[in-house]
Amino acid sequence: MIATGTTPVMAQYLAAKEQHRDALLFFRMGDFFELFFDDARIAAEALDIALTKRGQHQGEDIAMAGVPAHSADAYIAKLVKKGFKIAICDQTEDAAEARKRGSKAVVRRDVVRIITPGTLTEEALLDPRAANRLAGLAFAAGGLEAALAWADVSTGEFAVMSAPIQRLIDEAAALSIGELVIIDSDFDKASVKAMAAVSGTLTPRPAKTADARSAARSLEQGFAVQTLDGFGSFAKAELIALGLVYEYIILTQAGAAPRLTPPRRLETAGIMAIDATTRLSLELDRTQRGTREGSLLAAIDRTRTAAGGRLLAERIGRPLLDLTAIGQRLDSVAFLVAASDQRDMIRDSLSRIPDVSRALSRLELGRGGPRDLRALAIALTEGDQIAARMAPDLPAELHGAQQAISLIHQPDLATLAHKLMAMIVPEPGLLTRDGGFIAAGFDPVLDEIRLLSTNARQVVANLQAEVSETAGLPLKIRNNAVLGFFIEATPKQAEALMSPPLNALFIHRQTTASAIRFTNPRLMELDGQIARASERALARELELWQSAVEDVVAQSGGLRAAADALATLDVAAGLAAWAVEVDAVRPVLDDSLAFEVVGGRHPVVEAALRKAGEVFTANSCRLDAEGIGASRLTLITGPNMAGKSTFLRQNALLAILAQAGSFVPAESARIGLVDRIFSRVGASDDLSKGRSTFMVEMVETATILNRAGPRAFVILDEIGRGTSTYDGLAIAWAVAEHLHESNQCRALFATHYHELTSLSGRLSACGNASLRAREWKGDLVFLHEVVEGPADRSYGVQVAKLAGLPPSAVARAKSVLARLEKNQGQGREALDDLPLFATANPEPIASPPSAVEQALAELDPDALSPREALDYLYALKKML
Ligand code: ATP
Repeated sequence: MIATGTTPVMAQYLAAKEQHRDALLFFRMGDFFELFFDDARIAAEALDIALTKRGQHQGEDIAMAGVPAHSADAYIAKLVKKGFKIAICDQTEDAAEARKRGSKAVVRRDVVRIITPGTLTEEALLDPRAANRLAGLAFAAGGLEAALAWADVSTGEFAVMSAPIQRLIDEAAALSIGELVIIDSDFDKASVKAMAAVSGTLTPRPAKTADARSAARSLEQGFAVQTLDGFGSFAKAELIALGLVYEYIILTQAGAAPRLTPPRRLETAGIMAIDATTRLSLELDRTQRGTREGSLLAAIDRTRTAAGGRLLAERIGRPLLDLTAIGQRLDSVAFLVAASDQRDMIRDSLSRIPDVSRALSRLELGRGGPRDLRALAIALTEGDQIAARMAPDLPAELHGAQQAISLIHQPDLATLAHKLMAMIVPEPGLLTRDGGFIAAGFDPVLDEIRLLSTNARQVVANLQAEVSETAGLPLKIRNNAVLGFFIEATPKQAEALMSPPLNALFIHRQTTASAIRFTNPRLMELDGQIARASERALARELELWQSAVEDVVAQSGGLRAAADALATLDVAAGLAAWAVEVDAVRPVLDDSLAFEVVGGRHPVVEAALRKAGEVFTANSCRLDAEGIGASRLTLITGPNMAGKSTFLRQNALLAILAQAGSFVPAESARIGLVDRIFSRVGASDDLSKGRSTFMVEMVETATILNRAGPRAFVILDEIGRGTSTYDGLAIAWAVAEHLHESNQCRALFATHYHELTSLSGRLSACGNASLRAREWKGDLVFLHEVVEGPADRSYGVQVAKLAGLPPSAVARAKSVLARLEKNQGQGREALDDLPLFATANPEPIASPPSAVEQALAELDPDALSPREALDYLYALKKML
């Protein structure tokens, strides 16, 4: 409702805001974007900018906050990162145009774009090495199956997948989704909340927008086809999910048709399932602290382009189950491991190639700039050179990539590449409207207009001498944006110019504090010529721009294929470089249920140790779900800090790397395809969901026991530690038996319950392994070496000593332990006649350091001259 008494501009604002209640409305006023009312308060706090006021509305001050339009991107980026949506309400005409409609007419404004976390294309708002997807979720009738569709507006990707909702949640965790669109009636479903937890901002849309038939119609229209059958056959829920995504993009791009590839239907059947907990515990693309540094991806990523980085993240996030496809990826890596000159050539060229996928999308969406065209030109040209220099006998994947980037067989792309290369200057500005991005010599019409302007400028330069001579004064000709060209005189010179006879030749234009400005008929004429020429030049540049963008759009299929091929080459060459660097080998994959890694290493821990100048101890691991060649379940014991968790994770990571198509850090590896990985490592509270450590642990364990099939690979670290000893042991025991007997999958189970090790005698395919440690002069030395058989003891007290527990507490723990071990089976009663703490441990608490010790601790010997050192010695002696 717009109240009477509102100013016309405010009325315009309120009308726009009414349409975009869930977004912060950036309202263009001159050189600023202003926010009003609650939006202003929210933005002022989130951006730490001043909150002011502007006039009144219904008797109350209107809160206002604003940011300069030229730097709005940075502020918008900040808000989007915080999960806000932003509606940009821009001026769609200038003040002069408005005035033509009447002296009081308000400049027209319209919402030209809604920026939401899932629909970004701006370089400044995107992480170059991560995808940013918008997803839509729709449930099939019955509610167990669902469809998840997603698009990456910045690269044009568009796909959909159907699966049980639980599986889709796992997949969502791998997709780096910035925003999830759902139907508002699904808002309260627990599974939607679970998916939202791994998907960024949640955007509910009215249920009436979710209808399979109208979704199909709008997709058919968008892709200009009679029927979607050519793209695949889509189920009802899939159409609704695709429609949710598609319609939301149209909404946020203010009507501009989304430029996406035709929707692809993906099968979950071909992809290893990894749930969100497992992803996080294995630290695939980020650590548990949320950083990329320290993750598997960061450790192995040697790609040279942002698109390559995104593709690698994709592959690690979603390893394959198809032996042929994995084999093809491995063939590429193997080829480039062997051919070091090819590897270096490719990587070297790639480092000069900009992010083409995103440049292409911006151009297609009408949001591109001169730099984007230049990026395409460079990518095509460099890509062609790579193709020409690639060896003749390439494996299939590399051969395909070579074909896609070679311009010899693609005359249209070649023409486009040449045209763009000749057209855009080497370092163009950011915006088309600033002009100056078209190279000289490209277009005769533009060259001629520019020549006119150059000539006129030359004449102006000559004119300065002429007017100075006429006036007999050293006058200057200058120019600025408001006046154009003018003759500038000091106040003293101006007196002469304003008096006869010179006043007949010089026309006064402006008086400022320090100078008086004049013009004359000739200068006015030249100024007009120059102004018209630059207007015409800009118009011509924009014409040429438009036609180039049309060429690009017409060839977007070939361009996308080339961009994808460059990313594929980057991943293969990057993985090869990493494999050479860390001495990784090609894994052998088959459809057995075996797992045989000899001399395996943890890629991340090894890299960290190497940095510190230390060496990682390689360890082998043999499992067989059939229980023939090796045990199906191996129980791992050994002291804390011995390397159990590292060993567990290392084997899970090797399976992921292998099936993603990478070499693995090991002497050899034979891996029977793993269809699902489960990892439960370390306990953590999830208090935000109201779950204690123990509850989280049990929920995660339940998931594993309910879902792991014979092809799964399970790593379990410390089950049952959050409760009393007997409860914990009982649960751990039952879990181990269940894994062995019911799930029958390959599993590594690390535990501190030594009692469990006796299971190997009771279960047919259960083995023991342990991490060796040795006591040396009363201290514990970790060997990080995995050996067969259970650990002899747990060394917990020694580890506590290493950690710096006071000696009195360590001594006490030792005597309690000795007592418990001596009276095994008695439980608590074993401690009944233990002497009291104080009497049993007369040992004094470590005393504070003496004055001499303190002085020595503070001393910096390097800062002393020999003489001072001697003096210091005497002083110390005196202190004694
Ligand atoms: P806890 O029982 O306390 O969880 P843990 O047995 O699981 O301990 P890890 O966390 O795996 O021990 O390893 C502890 C540290 O030992 C690691 O951070 C790493 O620095 C080092 N380490 C582990 N494995 C190896 C190895 N194979 N070679 C060299 N160092 C290792």
